[in-house]
Amino acid sequence: MSVVILRWNPEISSYRMESFKNAVEEAKNTQKYMLNWSVWEHEKVHCGDCFFMLRVGKGKTGVVMSGKIVSEPYHEEDWSGKGRMTYYVNIRPDFLVDTERGKHLSIRDLEKAFPNYVWKEGHSGMVLSDSLGTKLEWLWLDFLYSNFSVGKKGNFASNLFDTDSECVLKTYHCYMVEPLQLDLAKKKGAACEICGYDYEKVFDLSSLNYGGVQNIYYFFPGKRQGKSVRQNFHCICANCRNIYSDICSDTNDGDLLPFESLVKMKRK
Ligand SMILES: [Zn+2]
Repeated sequence: MSVVILRWNPEISSYRMESFKNAVEEAKNTQKYMLNWSVWEHEKVHCGDCFFMLRVGKGKTGVVMSGKIVSEPYHEEDWSGKGRMTYYVNIRPDFLVDTERGKHLSIRDLEKAFPNYVWKEGHSGMVLSDSLGTKLEWLWLDFLYSNFSVGKKGNFASNLFDTDSECVLKTYHCYMVEPLQLDLAKKKGAACEICGYDYEKVFDLSSLNYGGVQNIYYFFPGKRQGKSVRQNFHCICANCRNIYSDICSDTNDGDLLPFESLVKMKRK
């Protein structure tokens, strides 16, 4: 499991600005937008990896998509017509951000946060180190949560749930982001915060890697916006997760509730 950087320069790419604008609309309307993209380090890139697509070149550069790689790399004709050996992967975005129309995570923001990596140029399809990949995942979640959990923003689309104020929460609650799971398990352990059931007794945390990590930390709505988005993650076991799902459907039409609702229920 790696975090892969894809690059898009609208001025030279066969994927035009108009294709991207249409993609944002398609994601909003269908939640089923898919595409493929070229990858340079095709031997290191695999199905299941996370990706970030950076718009580079002139104009409003920055992160325009995040999501998952959903195929192994395959060889196909060079998009540029230069006849190079080119590999592609199929990708499924979870979020799209139009950098021209509002808040976005810019290349400059990335350079400020991680000055030792060259963001603005390089091949498409480069694998980040595990530690940089994890840090970028946190930065992205922070950005999404603080900008797109309140109110509707026109330059933003969710491709997994309806684009509304809940979509960031729902995506991170329901889909495992392996680098975040692994980071949380290593730093905070793997014991259920409700009943104490300890995953550490089942698998060895010290040898835990991306392959072995399970979805044990879940993202919950905050009662109030905390200092760090990490505080919204709580470790719960499968049993307690079922109880939580029941409370949500019984009392909240299936919408997610703060973690405290589960704590209260368990105390009774
Ligand atoms: Zn539990």
